[in-house]
Amino acid sequence: MPDGSTLSIPLNVITGTRRHPRLLAVAGHHGDEQEGPSALISLWHSLRPESLRGSLVMIPVLNPPAFQALRRASLEDGLDINRIFPGNSRGTVTERLADALCAHLIRGSDLVLSMHGWSAGYLVEPYVEYPKSGKVSEVSRLAARAFGLGYVNPLEAGPGRLLTVASAMGIPIIEVEIGGQATSLPERRALYEAGTLNLLRHMGILSGRIERSSEPRAIDRVEVFAPTGGMLQCDRMVGDRVKRGENLATIYDLNLERIAQVASPAAGVIGVLRLAASVQPGQLVASVFK
Ligand SMILES: [Zn+2]
Repeated sequence: MPDGSTLSIPLNVITGTRRHPRLLAVAGHHGDEQEGPSALISLWHSLRPESLRGSLVMIPVLNPPAFQALRRASLEDGLDINRIFPGNSRGTVTERLADALCAHLIRGSDLVLSMHGWSAGYLVEPYVEYPKSGKVSEVSRLAARAFGLGYVNPLEAGPGRLLTVASAMGIPIIEVEIGGQATSLPERRALYEAGTLNLLRHMGILSGRIERSSEPRAIDRVEVFAPTGGMLQCDRMVGDRVKRGENLATIYDLNLERIAQVASPAAGVIGVLRLAASVQPGQLVASVFK
């Protein structure tokens, strides 16, 4: 760091009666996504090593500078860590964090659980992403299904994303989105805890049956962006079913006059919605699950 101190990634390891299979649970990529770090607290305090046939490696906060600032990107170098994987061991602070994760922890894991909570300003209907193609796609799909949420999203994530990089390294991975609004709530943490326990059972690390209410629906996501900046007011809510062309939100100027409407680009369920009143032109307003 600029003051000469060393930045480290805190990690907790529970090793059972064997080292493998190994689940790597990584939270705190984005400092404004709070459910993942918080959910790992009770898992750490409730799981007993002697009950595991394998190990669980937890990283509650991958990006400490972003977490301290409660911001998506690091204030040190302005980088979003989930756009620059596999990082660079001789690069800036965030690039080095990304490199440390890939070089020392992704390799050697049997499955990666990447824990997210959308972003400040947004709310998300919980879902699980997995790599749409490649050698680990099918293994990842089965893990996504086992996690137990209502929606799974096969995704070509693109360069720089952990989903893409772990997959290219031959390590199965799922990326979970629960929560939003830069807050943590008990019922959302419970989803993360139950899903992680399901993954441990799915991998044979924990005994017991996977608890899931129904078969998840495979979705595509269609995004819609603000045509203009202003004051955004949602007309519908996350989880609502909408038709194509139906109004999702209205944008007002600061004299409270209506200046634009944002219509749903597809029929489906509102999966992500911006709840913050302030909106920039071109900023994401909603993502519709179809
Ligand atoms: Zn995130």
